[in-house]
This record gives sequence, C-alpha cells and structure tokens, in this order.
Amino acid sequence: MPSVERTGYAARDPAPTGRPATRTSTEAAAQEILQRVFGYAAFRGHQGDAIVQVADGGDALILMPTGAGKSLCYQIPALVRGQRGLGCGIVVSPLIALMQDQVSALRESGVRAAYLNSTLSSQRAAEVERDFRTGALDLLYVAPERLLTERCLQLLSSAPVSLFAIDEAHCVSQWGHDFRPEYMQLEVLGKRFPGVPRVALTATADPATRVEIVERLGLDAARSFVSSFDRPNIRYEIVEKVDPRRQLVDFIRGEHAGHAGIVYCLSRRRVDETAAHLVEQGIKALPYHAGMDSDARQKNQSRFLREDDLVMVATIAFGMGIDKPDVRFVAHLDLPKSIEGYYQETGRAGRDGAASDAWMAYGLQDVVQLRRMIDESDASEQYKRVSGAKLDAMLGLCETATCRRAMLLGYFGEDDAAATRQAGCGNCDNCLVPPETFEATMAVQQLLSCIYRLKKERNQSFGALHVIAVLRGDRAGRAGEKIGQWQHDTLSTFGIGAERSELEWRAIVRQCIAFGLVDVDHESYGTLHLTARSRPVLRGEETIRLRRFVKDGGRKKSGKTRKDLDPADGLDATGAALFDALRSWRLAASREHGVPAYVIFHDGTLKEIARARPTTVTALGEVSGVGEKKLEAYGRDIVAIVERTT
Ligand code: ADP
Ligand code: ZN
Repeated sequence: MPSVERTGYAARDPAPTGRPATRTSTEAAAQEILQRVFGYAAFRGHQGDAIVQVADGGDALILMPTGAGKSLCYQIPALVRGQRGLGCGIVVSPLIALMQDQVSALRESGVRAAYLNSTLSSQRAAEVERDFRTGALDLLYVAPERLLTERCLQLLSSAPVSLFAIDEAHCVSQWGHDFRPEYMQLEVLGKRFPGVPRVALTATADPATRVEIVERLGLDAARSFVSSFDRPNIRYEIVEKVDPRRQLVDFIRGEHAGHAGIVYCLSRRRVDETAAHLVEQGIKALPYHAGMDSDARQKNQSRFLREDDLVMVATIAFGMGIDKPDVRFVAHLDLPKSIEGYYQETGRAGRDGAASDAWMAYGLQDVVQLRRMIDESDASEQYKRVSGAKLDAMLGLCETATCRRAMLLGYFGEDDAAATRQAGCGNCDNCLVPPETFEATMAVQQLLSCIYRLKKERNQSFGALHVIAVLRGDRAGRAGEKIGQWQHDTLSTFGIGAERSELEWRAIVRQCIAFGLVDVDHESYGTLHLTARSRPVLRGEETIRLRRFVKDGGRKKSGKTRKDLDPADGLDATGAALFDALRSWRLAASREHGVPAYVIFHDGTLKEIARARPTTVTALGEVSGVGEKKLEAYGRDIVAIVERTT
C-alpha cells in the first residue's frame, strides 16, 4: 500500500519531519524553477516533497483540495527532468475546453507547452507532433481518447517522455459522476512506458475513490501525498428556503455585486429561469446545462472564464476543472445529492485563497424531490440505498446547529482537523451567529403522534404538508378541503399545533427527518412515517432541542458589507487607485493576448504590487507571482503605471 501523509496545504513551514537535512540537487533545481519561472518564493504543504518524488523518477498519488496547487506538482518535475535531458512531460486531461487556457498560462510563464486534441487543425497538430519529436516541448497536454490511439502511443515512443501526469484522476471511478471510460485504459501507460514516472492528481477527498485510482491505474508503488481538504477561505452558509430567487438576488446584491460566481440548480428548466431572472434584476448572468447546444455552452463557459463579473447559472454539468481562480461565490438553489458533490461544487470558489462564500438555500421540498428522484431511478437496490444514506448525511449538514466545517472535515475522515474545529471555525454561519435552539420535545411529540394517529386510526400516510395542516387545524384552501374530505378534523391531533406557523412546522419536520426521527417513504410520494428513534421521544424518554425557525431565511442583516470580499481590501487610497489602474491595464493586456485576465496576473499579485509599489523592474521581480518571463514582458509597463499613479 502507498504510504500516506497528511498536512494542511496552507502550512507555513513546508518541510515536514523525516526529510534529510541536506538539500538534494533535485530540490535545488525545483526551487530554482519555482522562483524563476513561476515567481513564487516557497512550496506549499506537500508540493516540495511530491515534486522531488516525481522528479527523481518515482510515482505519486496527489490528493489536494482545489486551489492547493496541484499543477506545479507535475509541471515542475517535468521541467526538472527536461533540464536533465529526460524529455517532455505528458499531461492527460479530460477537459478539452480548458487545455488551451492551461497551455496559454504556461506559455505566459515561458514554458514550452502545447496541446493535442480534436479542436486542432491537422496542420497545427502536425506542428505540435514535430515539436514533440524534436524535443522542442517541455509539456504536452493530450485528451485521453487521443492519447490511447495507437498513432499517439507511437508518437510518444518516438522521443523521450519525462513523466505522465494524469489529471482529474478520479475520472477512473465508476461510482463518481465524472466517470470517463477512457481513464480505465490508462493503465497501459505503465506497461508501454516502464520507467517513466506517473503522477495521478485529484481534488476528490473520498477514500474509496483513492483506492480505485491506485488499483485501476496500477499505481501500487506510488507514494501518496494527501493534504487536509479544509478550505479556510470559504465561508459556509446554509439558509432556509423561503423565497429562493429573492434570497439569491439579496445575497448577490448584498455581498457579491460585480463578482464572478456560480449558481447551481438541479434542473435545466430552473437554470434557464434563474438566469433570466438574474438578468431581469440587472445581474450579469448566463445559463449552462447539457440541454444547450454545445456551441452556446462553450461560448458561455469561455465568457465566464474571461470576464470578471459574470454569474454562471448551471447544472452540475458545469465545473469540473474550471480553474478560474477568482470565483467569489458558489450558490446552491437546490440541495446537492451528497456531501461529496456539495464539497466539490463549493470548492470551485476561492481558488486564489481570497475570501469567498458557499451559500445554499434549502427547504423541505428539496428532500422530498431528491428522495423521489432516487426512488424513481432505474438503479440497483444497493445504489439506491447508498444514495439514500448520502442524502441523509447532506441533510444532517443542513440541519446541524454546530460548526459546518467541523462536520464536513469529519465526514471526509479528517477527525483531527475536525476536532480542532470543534470549538468553532469562526467562518461558517453557525460559528458566526450561533443558531437559536428551543426545547422542542413537545412539538416533536405532537408531530409524531399526528403521524401515528393517521396510521393507526385511518391506516393512512400523508406527506409533510398535509400532516402540518392537520396539526395546525387548517380549514381553509385545498388543505382544508382535504381535511374535510377525509374527516381528519375528528382526529385527536387536529389543531394541537395551531400556535405555530406553517413555516415553523416545516423547519421542525425537516430537522426530524435529518435526525432520523421521521422517515420519508421513498416509494409513496414522500409520505411521513415513524422510525425506531421515534418511540423514546413519544414515550417522553428523550428530550429534543431543535434550531428555531428564522423568518428571513436565517440571514443576519448586519447592515455592513463584508470588507474582506473587496479585492482591494487592506489597501490605502493610493494603493486602491493603483490596484484599479493595474486591473485596467491587465484587462487590455488580456484582450491583446486573447487569454483570461488571471493568466496574466492574479488579483493577489496585482494587490501585492499595489502595496509594494516597486519603482524598478528588479524590485517588481520580488513580488510573488512575477516570474522571469512575465517580468520581461510586462515589467516596464507596470513600473510606468506605478510611477504614474503614485
Ligand atoms: P489546483 O489544481 O490544486 O486546484 P492550481 O495548481 O491551479 O490548484 O493552483 C492554484 C493557485 O495557487 C494557482 O494560481 C497557482 O499559481 C498558485 N500556487 C500554486 N503553488 C503555489 C506556491 N507554492 N506559492 C504561491 N502560489 C502558488
Ligand atoms: Zn464553523
């Protein structure tokens, strides 16, 4: 079995214990490239060790959360090995649409990178192949289906290959939603190219997927580098769904005006409607889902990557490998099916490490709808059971009154990290504004006995809405009609919960479902049933505290906008003016080069320049994120802007 080490990627001290005190020549070469090519001062977390492992010819499995810096873990080894005459690094990446941006970013840094995929003309492909054969490339990105062709394997045999990097390696997992059949065949690389190191990378935290990657790719001898999956810069917030569209608009206007963000919805229809609604409200938004034709989808994705202030409203079809660093929020208007999905989707926020939000509006209807989807699918019983359990865990996260981050980390098996967060992470809604709870034993007993009476006296089961109507003694509207029709007004539980509003009752029902006190029947339209856990509560042997329903959906109205979400936060007036000037310059430069703005420089780098105000090109070179090539290309322009603006 591969060895496993775990640290936080944000760890300041990049040197874990057990490493020899003297620096090897590989370490020195890696460090030199980090500084000269990428402009960074130090490795983060496991980066340094993983890079040495691969650069020295070993296999590696790298599990780091989004934004931790996985790319350098194959880019630098390829460059180190290239310097030693060991050839070109091959990167297998499933996302054709993104290869181009990755390659542009590398070229901006002076790396000789290219890609081979179906979007290339045959003439351009022939040029790339020639460059590979003549040793004129450091890194070559290839789509998996192309790589596996005999023609391509022959090409790769015609010149030295320094390493194989298998990006998004979780695509080998048949259970995951990103499964790519071609990935299963990548084991052939180990057989055809023995002695060429292989590195598999993924941001999927699930331990079962990890085992599958090792097995399917034949990576038994690989060393594993596992980081903590905590994303400290992401603030988690889950609110009650009352009027989701209004809540979403309030959230975006209140804290993310002009920011790039992603809004996830469950269905294509909801995506289209929500995007249209945002546009009506004056928010720049575009839709993305699998039902659109591929040109339109492609166009919207490319605009999202290139523009700074677009909201993408999408189904989960959107997102894998989106490496836009400055996505400031991910919002969910529907409940994801599992914590794995939720974490992967929210993880697309804040790759650049700056403050970001993961916001979700969730309601009872979500639970019922997802249960029905699971039930109505053609999947096997086992699959349905697993899906049901995953949904339960997701509900638990929504309804918890304790730290959401601690719960997430606990779910991914990071018990130590979870324990240190137990006292509160200070950056989730429950830690920031601890939810009010109330003694709910009586209310829960009323709910449970109402379900019990319906079953016992009438042999009937109903969904939440009807049970609540009986509890509240509703005689009006459709609910009242139904009550009259079934004579449910003669039940002893009729009207016993009249003092609570329907919304309060819904919150109680949801929590009872999440905590296993009530079961929703998968088979029959979301009817409510008692469980083994109901009995002790009904008998008065157990007391229950629940979080209190909050009217505005749980969102605290502090009146203050969050300063940390402003990219110029912490700069003085001159710095802020300089930052703005640099951003305008970057926009023009990115248009001129036909690349996304962040490929030129990240906000973080511009901010650092605005703070340091270097007046020489040499001083500019000290700023993190400014490598040799960019210094050469843009140094003089930037120094001129600094001098003009300050
Ligand atoms: P991942 O693929 O793990 O999601 P990336 O490789 O895209 O992450 O890296 C995320 C961001 O962090 C990138 O902008 C990258 O340039 C930056 N980065 C990576 N390593 C370092 C480092 N050692 N120091 C500073 N920035 C880094
Ligand atoms: Zn917390």
